[in-house]
Amino acid sequence: MNQFRLPYHLTVAEDVFKNIPEAMSDVMPKLSGQKTIIVTEGNLKELFAGIIEEIGKDFPDSEIFLIKDGSYDGAVALAKYITMNGFGTVIGFGGGTVLDMAKFAAYVSKTTLISLVTTLSNDSLASPVAVLGTEGKARKTFKCGIPDAILVDVNVIKSAPERQILAGIGDTVSKYTALYDWKLAGEKAGEEINDFAYMISEMAFDAIRISRKEELKSTEFITRLTQALVMGGLAMEIAGTSRPSSGSEHLFCHGLEENYSEQASVAHGIAVAMGSYGAAVFQGRDTALLTRMIRDYGIPVKPSLQNVTEEIFIGAWQKAAASRPDRYSILNETDLSSGRLAKLYEDMENIF
Ligand SMILES: [Zn+2]
Repeated sequence: MNQFRLPYHLTVAEDVFKNIPEAMSDVMPKLSGQKTIIVTEGNLKELFAGIIEEIGKDFPDSEIFLIKDGSYDGAVALAKYITMNGFGTVIGFGGGTVLDMAKFAAYVSKTTLISLVTTLSNDSLASPVAVLGTEGKARKTFKCGIPDAILVDVNVIKSAPERQILAGIGDTVSKYTALYDWKLAGEKAGEEINDFAYMISEMAFDAIRISRKEELKSTEFITRLTQALVMGGLAMEIAGTSRPSSGSEHLFCHGLEENYSEQASVAHGIAVAMGSYGAAVFQGRDTALLTRMIRDYGIPVKPSLQNVTEEIFIGAWQKAAASRPDRYSILNETDLSSGRLAKLYEDMENIF
């Protein structure tokens, strides 16, 4: 049985970053008395100078730490800095890379982690893993803890470009094929399936399955997408593996990122949604549902729109399985000949 911990705070509200003591009133007096490190990056510090100043007032004994990159070495150095200087609380203010660095450093230094989310572009806000750069260009996924508190300021999300929200939807859409692959790995490779985690991940997918009825930047939709992304993170934490959120469509994304990042740098959530369409075809499933969702939300998965040429597309799929050889997925039983993939590419160019 996997041991898991769940966050004790989740608030999605307008201007919550200006009202942290109120949102976390039960733990705040104790937390704000601790030495705190606010981890963020230079451009966010500039963009949200006023908000960060407010946060500094809520945590009087705090200092700001700007990350330089999203490397494993950087995260280890940050953990060391936190331990050596006696910080008790780590605040991650940002999105993917910032939160991954903060998550890893808080996990290693055994400190409390508050995740202040500025983008909904992927499920890193609540996932128990950190994706960090290692030697060369390859990025690796490291297991760590889920944040103790997750706060999403609706107004901050509204101020970000819409494509970030579309990427977050894409990361959620991809659970459609991830869950199928997890079941398949259970049947064919004897992998353990946690039914509860499976159900939560399915609920995350269902939360955005309905057609787009409201504005992406409405408080209602931002709340729903946050819930879906958090549920995705919880499912991973409960299962003790990223399988409920990551199948062959994520392998495609790794294949793309590890081999073609210079030619085509595609946002994680868009790349996995692009991969999900192909994965659904390989899985022999009706693609109507995915097609409708991708079109309704307007997720830009047309490969050429993302600088993914036919050659890159074919290469990324053919190299996908090698990025995680230990993971059984539909790719283990799929004909990935160039001819078939070229046909898939052409279909996607026409459909989207
Ligand atoms: Zn993902």
